Amino acid sequence: MVCDCCGKKRKLFESFAAVKYKQAQLNFCVDCNDLAYKVRDDANEQNNDSYEKHLKEWKKRAKEPSELFLAWQQEFLTPLEKSLKKEESK
Ligand SMILES: [Zn+2]
Repeated sequence: MVCDCCGKKRKLFESFAAVKYKQAQLNFCVDCNDLAYKVRDDANEQNNDSYEKHLKEWKKRAKEPSELFLAWQQEFLTPLEKSLKKEESK
């Protein structure tokens, strides 16, 4: 099993996060999964600077992302981007 984000191979006893998406499954290593959660937390906390920083880090990790991953990431980020923009225009 490899991480769908960074392409890293799962090591023995390492736990990967599984995300169901469109009848398929994406697998993320701990580091990529952490970043996804950080990005979401930043958006929830309206922390724009931190969000941009973590998003950049996350996108840098995805060196050869699959189309499925990119589609999932887009859907994951869209509501977050919206919530951040709403705050900005206040
Ligand atoms: Zn990874």
